[in-house]
Amino acid sequence: MTELLSNYVSGQWQSGKGAGTALHDPVLGTELVRVDASGLDLAAAFAFARHHGGAALRALTYAQRAAMLGAAAKVLQAHRDAYYDISTANSGTVKNDTAVDVDGGIYTLSTYAKLGEGLGDTHFMHDGEAARLAKDPLFQSQHVLTPTRGVALFINAFNFPAWGLWEKAAPALLSGVPVIIKPAATTAWLTQRMVKDVVDAGIFPAGALSVICGSSAGLMDQLEPFDVASFTGSADTAAIIRSHPAVTQKSVRVNIEADSVNSALLLPGESTTSEALDLLVKEVAREMTVKSGQKCTAIRRVFVPEGLYGTVTQALSARLSKTTVGNPRNETVRMGAVVNREQFKAVRDGLAYLKAQAAVLHDGSTQTLVDADAAVACCVGPTLLGTRDAAGSDAADRVHDTEVFGPVATLVPYRNNDLNHALQLIRRGQGSLVASVYGTDHAALAHVVPELTDSHGRVHVISPDVAALHTGHGNVMPQSLHGGPGRAGGGEELGGLRALNFYHRRAAVQASTVVLSALKPARV
Ligand code: NAP
Repeated sequence: MTELLSNYVSGQWQSGKGAGTALHDPVLGTELVRVDASGLDLAAAFAFARHHGGAALRALTYAQRAAMLGAAAKVLQAHRDAYYDISTANSGTVKNDTAVDVDGGIYTLSTYAKLGEGLGDTHFMHDGEAARLAKDPLFQSQHVLTPTRGVALFINAFNFPAWGLWEKAAPALLSGVPVIIKPAATTAWLTQRMVKDVVDAGIFPAGALSVICGSSAGLMDQLEPFDVASFTGSADTAAIIRSHPAVTQKSVRVNIEADSVNSALLLPGESTTSEALDLLVKEVAREMTVKSGQKCTAIRRVFVPEGLYGTVTQALSARLSKTTVGNPRNETVRMGAVVNREQFKAVRDGLAYLKAQAAVLHDGSTQTLVDADAAVACCVGPTLLGTRDAAGSDAADRVHDTEVFGPVATLVPYRNNDLNHALQLIRRGQGSLVASVYGTDHAALAHVVPELTDSHGRVHVISPDVAALHTGHGNVMPQSLHGGPGRAGGGEELGGLRALNFYHRRAAVQASTVVLSALKPARV
C-alpha cells in the first residue's frame, strides 16, 4: 500500500477514514500515494478556520501578513527540488513545464509579498476618494474595503497544483482571510506537500491554511454568507457550484474560472516572410506543447488570413515535428504526458469530435514515444487541425465551442483583408481568458485591441519590437488580470492589488470629514 496523504484541518494533520484514491504516474502507470477526506469533521474544520484563523490573521496588518508570504516563499524555494520530483512523477511534466507551475507559484507568492509591504501597518483600505454629499463639505462619503470575516474555499483544477494554490492563497492571506484548499484529487500530492512545508515552518497562525485532499463532497455545504469560494475547472462542474444553495441562498461570493477557447490572431496585411507570422508560429507551437496543452490559457484557435493558411500550416508542422514526446526523465524529451488515462481519453475523443469539421494538418497520434510504453503512458503528440478555408471556418461550429484540454489547436482561416470576419469568428468563442494578436503595424494592432478587450480577460499584443521581451500568450503574470468573461467563467483573479477586492467587503461610510480623516487605511 502506498502512503495515505494527511489532510490539514482544525490545526491538525488528520487522515481520512477510507482506503483512499490512488494517484498515479501518468508515464509509468505506477501508484504513487493515496488521498482520502472521508470522515473529516468538515463543520469543525470550517469553523476553526473561520474563527481562529480569521481572527488571528485580521489582528495582523497587511505588512505583517506580507512578511509571512515572503517567509512562505523562502520555505518553498528551499524545497523546490522535491516539488520538481513530485511534479515529474504525478503530472508527467518536463522540467520547463514544472517550472511554469512550481516557480510560477513561488514567484506569484513573492510578488504579493512585495505588493503587500506597500500597504503598510493598517487593517483596511480606502476605495477611491471621499465624495461630498451636500453643499457643506463637512459630511462626505468614503468607500472602504474591509477583509471579509469568513473563509476562502478553493476548489482547484488538476493542471496547476502549485501555482493554482498560491495565485489564490497569496491575495487571500494578504487580505487576512483564511484559506481551505481542495486540490483536484489526481494531482493533490504537490499541493499537499507545499502546504505541509509551510505549515511545518510555523509561519501562519493556526487555521490560516488548511488542505483537504480527496473528495469535494460536503465542502460547499459548509459555506456561510461571508465566506468566498473560488472554483477552477470544467464548465460542467462550474454549473454545479453556481447552483449550490450556498451561492443561490446565502450569497456566498464565488469566482469561477472554466473552459476557454482562446485565440491567436495574425492581422491582415502580413506577408509570408513577415516577422509577425514567425512570432505567431513560434507562440502557437509553444502554447500547444507547454504542459502538453493542459493550460486554461493555451491557444486553441489560430486565426490567419486565408492566403497565409498554407504557409502557417507548413511552418507550424515543421516546429511541431521537432517536439519529442515521452518520459520527462529523459533529457531529450520536450513534452511529457497528459495527467491521467481519463484526460488521455478525453483528448482523443475531443480530437475525433473536432476532426468531423476540420482537416488534420499535423498528426501527433502516430508519434513514436521516447522512453515510454505507448500502451501505458498517457502521452499524446501535438496535433494541428484546420478548417480548410474561410467558408469552412464559417461552417464549423465545434472549433469555437470545444476545448480539447491537450496539445491540440485548430487553424481557422478568415477572408483576406477582412479583419471583421476574423473578429466575428473569434467572438464565436463566447468570451475567453486571453487572445494574442500578431502584426508589424503598431496602429493596426492598437486598432484591434478594443475589439477584443470586451470579450477577453487579457489581450496579449506581439509586434517585432517586443519579440524578445513579451511574457508569452499563456503565461499568467500576477501583475495582470486573470479570468475572462462569458464562457470562460466570468471570474477575475490576480491583476496586482485588484485581486484583494474579492476577499474584502466594500462599504460606503457617510460621516463627518473629521471622522473620515481619523480612519487610517492603506490606499489602493
Ligand atoms: P473538474 O473535473 O471540473 O474538477 C475541478 C475541481 O472540482 C476538482 O478539484 C474536482 O475534484 C472538483 N469537483 C468535481 N466535482 C465537483 C462537485 N460536484 N462539487 C464540487 N467540486 C467538484 O476540472 P478538471 O478536469 O480538474 O480541470 C480541467 C478544466 O479546468 C479544463 O476545462 C480547464 O479549462 C479548466 N481550467 C480553467 C482555468 C481557468 O483559469 N479558467 C484554469 C485551469 C483549468 P476532484 O478532482 O476530486 O474530482
